[in-house]
Amino acid sequence: MQDIATSNRTREIIRKHGFTFKKSLGQNFLIDKNVLDQIIAAAELDETRGALEVGPGIGSLTERLAHAAGKVAAVEIDRRLIPILRDVLAPHAHVSIVQGDILKTDLTQLWKEQFTGLSGVSVVANLPYYVTTPIIMKLLEEHLPIENIVVMVQKEVALRMSAKPGGKDYGSLSIAVQYYCEPELVCVVPGKAFIPAPNVDSAVIKLKRRSEPAVSVPDEAKFFRVVQASFAQRRKTLSNNLTALSGKERKGELADLLRECGIQPERRAETLSLEEFARLCEMLSREGL
Ligand code: SAM
Repeated sequence: MQDIATSNRTREIIRKHGFTFKKSLGQNFLIDKNVLDQIIAAAELDETRGALEVGPGIGSLTERLAHAAGKVAAVEIDRRLIPILRDVLAPHAHVSIVQGDILKTDLTQLWKEQFTGLSGVSVVANLPYYVTTPIIMKLLEEHLPIENIVVMVQKEVALRMSAKPGGKDYGSLSIAVQYYCEPELVCVVPGKAFIPAPNVDSAVIKLKRRSEPAVSVPDEAKFFRVVQASFAQRRKTLSNNLTALSGKERKGELADLLRECGIQPERRAETLSLEEFARLCEMLSREGL
């Protein structure tokens, strides 16, 4: 049978099931086989490995994952898509369709139920753009045994995830992603690769999980609080933004401490490397700030 990821087959499935797109759920279905090839190659799957897909839609990527992986679990929020998925994926017994909101799903439990005994798991998805960041943060922060994450996101978000210090794209998302992973841009994808076509460009990004975080910090939660506070108002200096954490009365002390870390208090957060944030966090913790 013809691949799902073609304009004709996608339209045929949609017509057959009387499906209508919900913009509020970020429903843009991929119809470009070349892009799917690149996603599948980047995910580095084989029959000993599993794939978690977020938002399978009508199953175009799921079908390809079924051929590449030993086990596939796909979590879809839209109940109307479940019978369609069961229908198109019927030939693949090792694919489980789970109805639910990925943000409310107990992933540790899902891992136990779906991926026990496999040699590794990749997360592979064309993400719904309205919840990209919360989904990525959930996947990273829950300390799941994920080897890599290969996802389609808005191009602008991919640039933010992979940005280096010093530019407008570098921010708390870059730091959170790069703390846990090594990002690599796989390809840029134009709107015409989807039905319906979004009016922004997209990109596939691969996040290769590091065996250890990029920097060592005394307290992860504190590290991310310091990063968030530093970027609270991008135009403000580090010293002004961090006063929110230390209190105005300790502003002088804070400036001295920044200098001690080798960081000029007048610098902006967007110029600090992960190593500098880690040093700062350690010093702030030591001084009880
Ligand atoms: N994977 C399909 C493809 O590439 O054609 C569909 C991708 S579409 C961009 C995003 C999918 O995520 C939709 O099917 C949508 O219903 C689903 N979705 C949206 N929010 C979700 C959530 N919170 N949890 C799980 N699935 C979600």
